[in-house]
Amino acid sequence: MSFERDAIRQRIEHVRRRIAEACTAAGREAQEVTLLAVSKTKPEAAVRAAYAAGQRDFGENYAQELRRKADALQAEASDLRWHFVGPLQRNKVRHVVGRAKLLHSITTAEQVAAIEQRAASLDVVQDVLLQLNLSGESTKAGITAEAAAELVRRCEQATHVRCVGLMTMPPPVADPRRNAPYFEQARRLRDELGGPQRLPHLSMGMTDDFEVAIEHGATIVRVGTAIFGGR
Ligand SMILES: *Cc1c(COP(=O)(O)O)cnc(C)c1O
Repeated sequence: MSFERDAIRQRIEHVRRRIAEACTAAGREAQEVTLLAVSKTKPEAAVRAAYAAGQRDFGENYAQELRRKADALQAEASDLRWHFVGPLQRNKVRHVVGRAKLLHSITTAEQVAAIEQRAASLDVVQDVLLQLNLSGESTKAGITAEAAAELVRRCEQATHVRCVGLMTMPPPVADPRRNAPYFEQARRLRDELGGPQRLPHLSMGMTDDFEVAIEHGATIVRVGTAIFGGR
């Protein structure tokens, strides 16, 4: 166990160094980029190890897994922030609203309505990102630029849902530089929709391409494998 703890600590430190270097290369401040440790399918012990190494933001893909881990760690790690990054079914909304600081993967008006209802009943304001699929890559969930503009308006009409940015997840590629155009498209769309004042966050970049994403304006990078090992 302690070997695993040390390994997770070292990997987090290594990823943080790479983030800092990518920021320097892009003329940005390292504090502009939040490292989100994606702990899906990993045991609570792995989350504890990362937390002990100073990591505070964690991402989960499955609503019930987020709920289980959040409730298990609540008492010992009250400043830990959960993020939901997976596809969100309507009947799972109740598990994540109020527990997750940020929902990264909103794609429909029905989701916004369900989140609004749940957040109102808890008397909280739920921050969300809209997940894009700009390139027309068919495999991943996500919405077009036009649909994103419409959903931003929907969120502005809601009183308990606040849209704070965009998320994108390009397909895996052998050469991470090939994802640069997707990241650039996301940033341009964010600027068309009102810029960083209105939509401060761009959640983009994973283990294989987070440095490229940082070069193109990412404010949150979602890193799983480079921290917790393979799944
Ligand atoms: C699993 C996952 C990640 C992390 O992927 P790695 O390649 O392991 O870093 C990031 N974002 C989302 C939405 C994921 O599902």
